[in-house]
Amino acid sequence: MDLLEYQGKQLFSRHGLAVSPGRVVTSVEEAVAAAAEVGYPVVVKAQVLIGGRGKAGGVKLADDESRVREHAGSILGMDIRGHTVRKLWIEHASDIASEYYASVLLDRQAKQPLAMFSTEGGVDIEEVAEKTPEKLVRHHVDALAGLSREEAVKIATDGGADSDVIDGVADALMALYEVWMQEDATLAEINPLIVTPGREVRALDAKVSLDGNALYRHPDNQGLSDAENEDPIERRAKEQGVQYVALDGDIGILGNGAGLVMSTLDVVAQAGGKPANFLDAGGGSDAAKIKQAVELILSNVRVRAVLFNIFGGITRCDEVAKGLIAAFEELKAAGGDGWDPIPFVVRLDGTNDAQGRELLRQAALPNVHPAATMNEAAEKVVTLAKEQG
Ligand code: GDP
Ligand code: MN
Repeated sequence: MDLLEYQGKQLFSRHGLAVSPGRVVTSVEEAVAAAAEVGYPVVVKAQVLIGGRGKAGGVKLADDESRVREHAGSILGMDIRGHTVRKLWIEHASDIASEYYASVLLDRQAKQPLAMFSTEGGVDIEEVAEKTPEKLVRHHVDALAGLSREEAVKIATDGGADSDVIDGVADALMALYEVWMQEDATLAEINPLIVTPGREVRALDAKVSLDGNALYRHPDNQGLSDAENEDPIERRAKEQGVQYVALDGDIGILGNGAGLVMSTLDVVAQAGGKPANFLDAGGGSDAAKIKQAVELILSNVRVRAVLFNIFGGITRCDEVAKGLIAAFEELKAAGGDGWDPIPFVVRLDGTNDAQGRELLRQAALPNVHPAATMNEAAEKVVTLAKEQG
């Protein structure tokens, strides 16, 4: 779960990492009031879940009210690489002597937390890593021991931080590590971590991703997911307790069991198709749950064909068939006379599969195609999706 800058900064300040005072606003008038509260000069910042806002014109300094009006007016509603700006963060502007970079993330290969630091902040850090890797310090942390002050000081020193701010940078690194660890983040990044002319060290930006599966341990963070930025179908699925992940293809996928759904995505990709979603109907799905899942899949307007891949165990194939039939009845009622459903390819195998297939045969649902194996199902659905295009 990715957080907006201002939300990340809230977590930072909870852990003693210095940030500038600011306010989040949604209109020009609010921006003007916020600027007066935090004090001029201010910086007007687009709040979207994508980096590079500065380059896109989504971060502007303002010395007075008329500039705040101008910038807030132009940034609100702006499109930054597919993300519409609906919120602004108005922050008291900082004077900058140096721009550093700091992050903590999980290095999955090393199975350890990785702290990184560079004095080449503010710019594209991937470029630093690629062209001048010696300027990016990478330090693996013992997850049980945590990041000690000695280690943090060494990271700052090795990275070439100015000698008078080594302690300040070490404090920031330790606080950032604490954010990452205690908030169950998967990424905590500051770019830039600035040094002010007064030699203060402060986070000017925040990029934090939280582990959604650990959110239950953090009641304070549960309100942070930004409803407007979240995929609306994913949000509905979450409310219904369905495991759904939006993908960017055009073939809707439903299976039971996460492993089966993942292999279904693979075979569809292998057959040359692009899945539109991951949907795990779960074990023991009854007809009502299947009907709900069909509605979720079809509410994605890009879906051109759907693949049902059910391996009956606890889930009974006759229940799945009943769910599909119920969903079609409702769709037909909503669609009226000219109703023309998109193709469904259905593979039922396992508990009560014969009954399930018989129910489907009797129902004679329009545009529903049985398949005997997973590969056959994948090829069929890819062909049908292409015909729809
Ligand atoms: P990003 O482009 O999405 O990474 O947004 P940032 O929050 O990192 O801001 C982009 C750039 O704007 C920073 O690298 C700074 O150079 C500049 N900037 C942001 N806030 C301030 C500020 O308070 N004062 C000054 N002088 N520059 C700022
Ligand atoms: Mn940044």
